[in-house]
Amino acid sequence: MPSPLQVYNTLTRKKESFEPINPPFVGMYVCGPTVYSDPHMGHARPNIVFDVVYRYLMHLGYKVRYVRNITDVGHITTELDEGVDRIGQQARLEQKEPMEVVQHYTLSFHKAMAQLNTLPPSIEPRASGHIIEQIEMVKAIIESGFAYEVNGSVYFDVEKYSKSHHYGKLSGRVLDDLRAQTRELEGGSDKHSPFDFALWKKASPEHIMRWPSPWGEGFPGWHLECSVMSTKYLGSPFDIHGGGMDLLFPHHECEIAQSVGAEGHEAVKYWMHNNMITINGQKMARSLNNFIALEELFTGSHALLEQAYSPMTIRFFILQTHYRSTLDFSNDALKASEKGLDRLMNSLRTLKKLEYAGNGQSAAEDNVIRKTISDISEAMNDDFNTALALAGLFELSSKINSLSEGIIPHSAISREAFEGMKTTFITFTEDILGLKDEDASAADHAVLDGLMQLIIDIRKRARDGKDFATSDKIRDALKAAGIELRDGKDGTKWAIA
Ligand code: ZN
Repeated sequence: MPSPLQVYNTLTRKKESFEPINPPFVGMYVCGPTVYSDPHMGHARPNIVFDVVYRYLMHLGYKVRYVRNITDVGHITTELDEGVDRIGQQARLEQKEPMEVVQHYTLSFHKAMAQLNTLPPSIEPRASGHIIEQIEMVKAIIESGFAYEVNGSVYFDVEKYSKSHHYGKLSGRVLDDLRAQTRELEGGSDKHSPFDFALWKKASPEHIMRWPSPWGEGFPGWHLECSVMSTKYLGSPFDIHGGGMDLLFPHHECEIAQSVGAEGHEAVKYWMHNNMITINGQKMARSLNNFIALEELFTGSHALLEQAYSPMTIRFFILQTHYRSTLDFSNDALKASEKGLDRLMNSLRTLKKLEYAGNGQSAAEDNVIRKTISDISEAMNDDFNTALALAGLFELSSKINSLSEGIIPHSAISREAFEGMKTTFITFTEDILGLKDEDASAADHAVLDGLMQLIIDIRKRARDGKDFATSDKIRDALKAAGIELRDGKDGTKWAIA
C-alpha cells in the first residue's frame, strides 16, 4: 500500500509519496545552530517545523532517529571562505575560551527550544567531536580526484566536479550564471576558482581552534561536518535532510558534492526546506536591527515589540503558515495568534472535562465530525500542512463549545464520533502540533473545577429536596464571588462571569 504521506522534495521540485529506505525506520538530519550568539527568531522556525515533522512521523508509527548537529567550529563568516571563524571571533570578543562560548550558547539554545516545546533530537553531535571522521572524508574526496591541497588547505574542485555532475541541482543554480555574478579571485587566494570551497583550512598562527591533519594544523570547513555526521549516524543514503532555505546554497549544494565526491553517490533521499521569516516585510539582518532574540520575544524587551509573546504564541504563529510559505512577523499577526491559541486552549480545557451524555446512536452531527477528523489527517499527509490542520481543529473547537453550552445536544452525536473527536483534538493539538496549555492557572483551574462540582452537587441535593432557600443562597453567593451557574438539560455548568 502506498504511503498516505506526501512530502515535497526540494531536489525533484515536486511532492513525492514518502517511502522510507528501511521502514519502519526513518533517518532525519536537520542542520542545527552555530552556537556563537543567543537563539533568535530565525532559529524558531526550522526547529519547530522539523519538530512537527518528527512528531508526525512517530505518530504514523515510524521509528525515527532525529539527528541535529551543533556547529562549534568551522562556520566562517563569508560565502567565499575567506572570512573568520564565527566561534573564534566571538571568543576573542568575550575574552573566553571558544568552548566556553560554545557551552554558553548551546545551553541558551536548549533552553529556548524547551520553552518552544520542541522535543530534543535523538542525537546531537558536535562538529569538534568529529574531526577524525572529517579528515577521513577529505582524504576520500582527494582520492577520487575532486579535491586538491594548496599550502595546507584543501579545496573541493567545483569546476572539475561540474564536468561530470550537476553542481547546482538542488538550488537550481547554473555554474555559468554564477561565473557571471562572481568577482575574480583576489590576489593571494589559494583557490583555483572562486566557486571552490574549503574542506580543510590551514590555521593561521593566531587561530585558536586547530587540529593536526595530513595537511598540517587546521580546522574543517563548515559544509563538511553535516555530510560526515549525518551519514555516520544515519547511514548512506538516509531519508530526510532538513533545514532553512537560506542553507540551500551553498551549504546543502556543497553537501551533495561532498557525498558524491567521497562515496560516489548522493546521501539524501528527501531534501526538505522551510521558507524564511520576514519582519514587518523586511529581511532579518543585524544591520537593520530587527534580529529579535527569542528571550526578547518572551519578555517583550525588543524595541520593535509592543508586548511580550509567550513561547506557545510563537509556536502557534509559526504553525499557522505552511512551512514552505514565507512568514511575516508583526505585532498585529502575533496578537491575532495569541487570541487564536487562547481559543484553542479553552476548547482543550472544556473537552478534557466533557463527558459523553448522548444515547450512543449515530446521529445528525456524526458525518460533519468524521469529515473534519479525516480532513485534519489529510492536511498533515499533504506535506505537513499545519495551517489546514489547525483550521480543522478550529472547526472541532466550535463543535466542542456548542456541545458544552448545550447549543448542540449530546443526542445529536454518537459515542463513537464523540470519542473520535476527543482523541483527534487532544492528539493533534498536544502531541503532534506540540501546543501546550501555558496558562499558569490551568492546574488551579482543575482544583477549582473539582470544588465547583462538589458545590453544584450539594445545590442539586438541596433542590431535589425542595430546599430552594439553600439552593438559591448557593447560587447568589457564587454570583457575588464572580461565578455563574447555568442550569441546562445536561446538568449545571459553571463559568467565571
Ligand atoms: Zn548543515
